[in-house]
Amino acid sequence: MNDQQLLRYSRHILLDQIGIDGQERLLAARALVVGAGGLGSPAAMYLASAGLGSIVLCDGDTVDLTNLQRQILHHTAAVGRPKALSGRDTLACINPDVDVIPLAQRLAGNGLEEQVAAADVVLDCSDNFATRHAINRACAKYRKPLVSGAAIRFDGQVSVFDLRDAASPCYNCLFPEGRDVEEVRCAVMGVFAPLTGIIGATQAAEALKLVAGCGESLSGRLLLLDGLGMEWRQITLTRDPACAVCGGT
Ligand SMILES: [Zn+2]
Repeated sequence: MNDQQLLRYSRHILLDQIGIDGQERLLAARALVVGAGGLGSPAAMYLASAGLGSIVLCDGDTVDLTNLQRQILHHTAAVGRPKALSGRDTLACINPDVDVIPLAQRLAGNGLEEQVAAADVVLDCSDNFATRHAINRACAKYRKPLVSGAAIRFDGQVSVFDLRDAASPCYNCLFPEGRDVEEVRCAVMGVFAPLTGIIGATQAAEALKLVAGCGESLSGRLLLLDGLGMEWRQITLTRDPACAVCGGT
């Protein structure tokens, strides 16, 4: 680290659990953030401000006026622009040290697998089950830690599926694909603006801890937030030995 970096990251370096070594690990790491919306905004902004070296920011949508209430990565002038590019510009203003790789497309198939394979940590900030399951399958295949978040109305949830560990449950253990689940979207249901901030910032915290190698992750635990009562609940997760994604490994 140069003098400017020692200053910029000094409040991390002062933490015994991070220090110079942990900050060097952050600077050398690569994160994949899928979704530059309500969750991806705070998640990517904290990863960038904290000096996570390379951030792949993926989103196929353009910024809409209805996004600005919560998607704090995007400014009013960005309406109509691809979210990946608008996000890249904001992150570059926050921290020019960070290499942001914008992908203005909905990642799927080989493209998704390539990005997951190249990442040290994956943040699922998407808003639909098809993408969530595709990310989970790729993380299981390449044994990458997955930080998963969701927010709708006043309700949020967040967990880590640390697929480097064969004993860890995966997203599909918790929400098996094909089970009749109702897809709920912010577009129709509404979402409380800071709820996405709380959940997205929690995802950033878990990702930074995983990369820096400090603390205990949410692996094996699902946190549920009731934003109206402002109460957190914790559910212990166990691996499903019959899971179609991780059961055979
Ligand atoms: Zn599983």
